[in-house]
Amino acid sequence: MPENRSNMPFSVDNHLALSEGSQIKHVIAVVSGKGGVGKSTVTALLAVELAKQGYKVGILDADLTGASIPYLFGLQGLLRVSDKGLLEPMETKKLGIRVVSIALAMENPEMAVIWRGPLLSKAIQQFWTDVNWGELDYLLVDMPPGTSDVPLTVMQMLPLQGVVVVTSPQDMARSVVKKAYHMANQLQVPVLGLVENMSYAVCPHCGERFSVFGQKPLSEAAKEFNVQVCAEMPLDPQLAELTDKGDIENIGESIGLTLQSMVEALASMP
Ligand code: ADP
Repeated sequence: MPENRSNMPFSVDNHLALSEGSQIKHVIAVVSGKGGVGKSTVTALLAVELAKQGYKVGILDADLTGASIPYLFGLQGLLRVSDKGLLEPMETKKLGIRVVSIALAMENPEMAVIWRGPLLSKAIQQFWTDVNWGELDYLLVDMPPGTSDVPLTVMQMLPLQGVVVVTSPQDMARSVVKKAYHMANQLQVPVLGLVENMSYAVCPHCGERFSVFGQKPLSEAAKEFNVQVCAEMPLDPQLAELTDKGDIENIGESIGLTLQSMVEALASMP
């Protein structure tokens, strides 16, 4: 980690304040190199696993132009505004995970697609400052895909304590890991682990594992940047079905087990 903060291109001490009465112990960003690798699905599953262990969990859906967290949990409608003018997160049906997303804040969330950077940043800022998050053990931030300006700006505003990187075997793993590593370094937070999604599939007849997208150089990239591959998640028809139905909270144990090391890394944070 760089020691001299005066060399940083921006201040890392200038984080936004939470609304009065809100307290969040750990803020974790989930990032990916591009869309479609399963970043939101992994964010949702990590939230589910942490909530199952009894932690109070929230998800801030910062992926404004591809907001999918509410759909994964089958959440619909608009967020309530409290007497104090704060947005009240919507709770998931089974585990009470507190969700804030543009898809729950606007009648027409598709409008965000045409927003420029400053407006996107402003919206995310409000999802932090103007929300009654209450007391949370973990807030998972589903980041916009990519490792360019917008996600960096978002990460800079929030007091992050770690980053989870999601890749898929089709991804440019080395480049994604390298960028995430440098991004985390600039923000002076650790990369807590890598999750490779769609890593393999299991034959429904013989149970044999096979790789759908060919060989994967993720472990080499991990070694090079000294970060851990914490999970290899299969391409799973049950997961696809549950996400389509907005029922991700009812995911079976086996997917949870593939995420176990990642969940443990989060759960053991001081
Ligand atoms: P991202 O957030 O990276 O854009 P999503 O999490 O929205 O990606 O996932 C994209 C699609 O892929 C979703 O329809 C999701 O249900 C599906 N998907 C993601 N991971 C898996 C998996 N391991 N097995 C089956 N389907 C998956």
